[in-house]
Order: sequence, then structure tokens, then C-alpha cells
Amino acid sequence: MKQLTAIMKERTAFSFELFPPKTDKGMENLPGTIEHLCEFKPDYISVTYGAGGTNVGKNMDVCGMIQKAGTTPVTHFTCIGNTREGIKEQLQDYLDHGVNNMLALRGDLPFGWTGTGGDFAYATDLVAFARKEFGDKIEIAVAGSPEGHISCRSLEADIAVLKQKQDNGADYIMTQLCWDMEQFKRWLDAIRKAGITMPVDVGIMPILDMAATINMALSRNACVMDRKLCEIISKNWIFPNPFDKEPFDAAVDEKKAAFKEAGIEYTIRQMDEYRACGVDGIHMYALNKWKDVSEIINRSGLRTIV
Ligand code: FAD
Repeated sequence: MKQLTAIMKERTAFSFELFPPKTDKGMENLPGTIEHLCEFKPDYISVTYGAGGTNVGKNMDVCGMIQKAGTTPVTHFTCIGNTREGIKEQLQDYLDHGVNNMLALRGDLPFGWTGTGGDFAYATDLVAFARKEFGDKIEIAVAGSPEGHISCRSLEADIAVLKQKQDNGADYIMTQLCWDMEQFKRWLDAIRKAGITMPVDVGIMPILDMAATINMALSRNACVMDRKLCEIISKNWIFPNPFDKEPFDAAVDEKKAAFKEAGIEYTIRQMDEYRACGVDGIHMYALNKWKDVSEIINRSGLRTIV
């Protein structure tokens, strides 16, 4: 069995997600962040990938930083806009660099994209292609959306796609963020009933900043924000609105601090609830922030720095 799948079948895995910073300064600071996160001995760290190949070089550099820190990198990889040959070449390049773990995604064409849609329309195609070309040299994770992907016809159709990913050779699932715990439980039950046996590695989005949280839920994923999360937002609302660069609210700093504290508590409780559901992995979107993330992990008791 493959490395990370085997871990998830044995115990709850623990991992982080990072993104390649846009600036040189950000890249310079990242090894320090990785070093701090590695103190928690994660089973792997995944690195996001710009759909259309917009950050390929930086993504590989970040994978290298993770390897240097002694941890397994998992590269995200999108097929949209790419050709069969291009995908084969790039995946071979990752393998040549010792990166043999991938999250196989469709991706979304970047704003202003002028190229073609590429050879593959869906992640299922990428999974089948990678498995056929590279056999068991690659461990393949796929995305799962507990609330259904934003453009899916129905949750049932989306689950059928997930089953197809498994049938095409995927090894485990990394989930989209989901704050609606009841929906998560229904989805987990439904995928198991549909014959999906892949381990489920749950994505945890730390709640640290109000504008970022709202943006993440509404502008990208159409995620449900449960009553508890809405209460935290309402109680700490910054007037006129949390997106305003110069708010007239005199209590901005206090409200930001109170929101963060309540958000950390909320995140920790979510992690507890996910573990109680018997998930196979906790995958924290670290947002390239080690201090806040370390506080969450330490306070959760999930792992402590030894
Ligand atoms: P798919 O599984 O292909 O699904 C896309 C849509 O098409 C769904 O609605 C599905 O139901 C439907 N569909 C799939 N197959 C079929 C079919 N055969 N017939 C009809 N309909 C079908 N994006 C990035 O650009 N870079 C990243 O690094 C990145 N990281 C991510 C990490 C995680 C954990 C997750 C959950 C998402 C990530 N994304 C990333 C976002 C992802 O690329 C988008 O959500 C994208 O819109 C869909 O990707 P997918 O792999 O889920 O697509």
C-alpha cells in the first residue's frame, strides 16, 4: 500500500497545506515557516498549484523546501488548460525530484485565460491518465466536496464522480472546507453507501480573519456558514463592513482580536467534531501562518511540540 494511504488506514493522519508566496520575500521566509510547522511532525505538507500552470516553478521550489525539512511533499496538480504531453512531462519532472504524491484536480481556468481548455475536462480524466502512465509510482489524492462542488448538478451526481475517481485509481480524498458538521456527516454516510472506501482527509480552514472567512465562503466555494460561525461574525462586525480599508468603527483592533480568539475556539471545536466522526486525516490549511496555526494545534491537544 502507498505511504500516506497506509498511514490513514492505521491512524488519523495530520498534515498542512501551504501556498507558494507571490513575492521573493515571501519565498525567503517560507523555510522558517516550514521549520516551525514541522515541529508538529506532520505526515505530509501539500502545496497548492496555480491552475493553468501559473506557479509551476515556485510550487516545485516549495516542495523542495518541504523535502529539505524532512517531510513528504504532496503537490496539488490541475489538468485544466494542459495537454496530455504537458501533463506527462510535468508529472515526470515531479517524480524526478522525488515528489511522488499528487492531489489530482481539474482546477478552474484563471481570469483572463486565453489558451484552450486543454485535453482533459475533469479530474477523473487526470486520475486515469496518471495511473495509466505512471502506475503505482504516484500516490493520488482527489478533491471531495461535502456540500457538493459549486457547479455540480446534484450531490448524488457529485458523489458518483467521486466514485469514478476511486475506480480510475485514486487513493484517498482531501475535502473542501465544510463548516456544516451535519452536512459533513450526511456526506460521509452517503459516500460509504455509494461504495467509496478511500480514506477521508478533512480540510480544516482556520478562522482567523473576518473578511478572509467571508470571502472564502462566498466568493469561492458557496459554503454554508453555520449559526455559531455567523454569531461570531455578527458579534464582532466591523462597521461599515469588514472589507472596508478605513472603517469608522473605533473598536476595530479589539473586534479583530475578539474575532480571532472566538475563531480559534470554533476551529478547535470543529477539529474535535471531525475526529469524533472517525475521519482518517486532519489536513490544516496553514495559510503560510505558523504562529496562529501552532496555537490552534497546541490548544487542540492534537499534537504538541516535543
Ligand atoms: P472535478 O472533480 O473534475 O469536478 C468539477 C465539476 O465537474 C464538479 O461539479 C463535478 O461534479 C463535475 N464533474 C466531474 N466529472 C464529471 C463528468 N465526468 N461529467 C459531468 N460532470 C462532471 N484549485 C487550484 O487551482 N489549485 C489548487 O491547488 C487547488 N487546491 C485544492 C485543494 C482542495 C483540497 C480542494 C477541495 C480544491 C482545490 N482547488 C484547487 C480547487 C479546484 O480546482 C476547484 O474546486 C475546481 O473547480 C474543481 O476541481 P475538482 O478536481 O474537484 O474537479
